[in-house]
Amino acid sequence: MLVVVCVKQVPDTTQVQIDPVTNTLIREGVPFIVNPYDTHAVEQALRFKDRYGCRVVAISMGPPNAEATLRKALAQGADRAVLLSDRVFGGADTLATSKVLAAAIERLAKEDEVGVVICGKQTIDGDTAQVGPGIATRLDFAQLTLVDRVDELDLSARRIKVSRKLEGRHEHVEAPLPVLLTVVRELNRPRYPTVAMRLESADAQVEVWDNSVLGLDVNTIGLKGSPTWVSRIFSPERAKGEMLGDGAHDPEGAAQILIDKMIEKDLLAL
Ligand SMILES: Cc1cc2nc3c(=O)[nH]c(=O)nc-3n(C[C@H](O)[C@H](O)[C@H](O)COP(=O)(O)OP(=O)(O)OC[C@H]3O[C@@H](n4cnc5c(N)ncnc54)[C@H](O)[C@@H]3O)c2cc1C
Repeated sequence: MLVVVCVKQVPDTTQVQIDPVTNTLIREGVPFIVNPYDTHAVEQALRFKDRYGCRVVAISMGPPNAEATLRKALAQGADRAVLLSDRVFGGADTLATSKVLAAAIERLAKEDEVGVVICGKQTIDGDTAQVGPGIATRLDFAQLTLVDRVDELDLSARRIKVSRKLEGRHEHVEAPLPVLLTVVRELNRPRYPTVAMRLESADAQVEVWDNSVLGLDVNTIGLKGSPTWVSRIFSPERAKGEMLGDGAHDPEGAAQILIDKMIEKDLLAL
């Protein structure tokens, strides 16, 4: 059985800059990292591999340099890495992205059964959390989002039991295989690649699939297949702080002014 894990290359968020004219990301000189949630997705896939002997395939859609992201998954222990890269995939919104990823998973399923697909809960750049559910819907897989614990994977009964992290509570749910999980950070602690694994992954092959492999209608993928696009992107302006009293020479007086202000604005429950 294959476990497919989706990993995305994202800019190191503290350094992102947006082109004010085109509203697109300025990629030059920006360091990229593996989307942090996806490292937890890879770890879960590897735990399935360790316990049940599944093969783990990491896939990513992106430009050629996204290969580095896949090498990190290989260094963690993934068996195979496939980069979906083609100009016709470019400019994709979440709908078109999930279409390409789902087609790649269908293609892998021709070689071996895909029992579980794992994605991060969301990315730290797009933050839509739409891609995982989009893939599950296209593949007609059960989907369990926000998974923070895997309780049981029963391969003979073809069922999985997990805990989901909701706001202020947890939910225990069960689903049949094949299933798509999206995972949160609390799920596990990603293993640190050993030096030997890193060296090995540096020479490992990352397969590159273009659209000739997937055979998708070019009008349904990339920019052409994206019904949404960004009309404006901006960072919210921070309200300027207000100096209260003279904190340097009269800290107690400044604290009293602050408390009075908080009481005035009903911010302190008395
Ligand atoms: C309205 C809109 C317009 C956009 N226009 C453009 C554009 O013109 N050009 C452009 O480059 N981007 C564009 N994007 C960004 C692009 O849609 C996202 O990079 C991509 O769709 C993933 O969405 P996300 O980051 O929100 O993923 P999320 O749904 O937050 O990601 C969830 C999980 O899905 C998986 N995943 C997501 N993306 C990938 C991927 N590419 N490969 C492998 N796994 C993945 C990961 O496991 C991830 O943790 C646009 C996005 C939106 C919403």
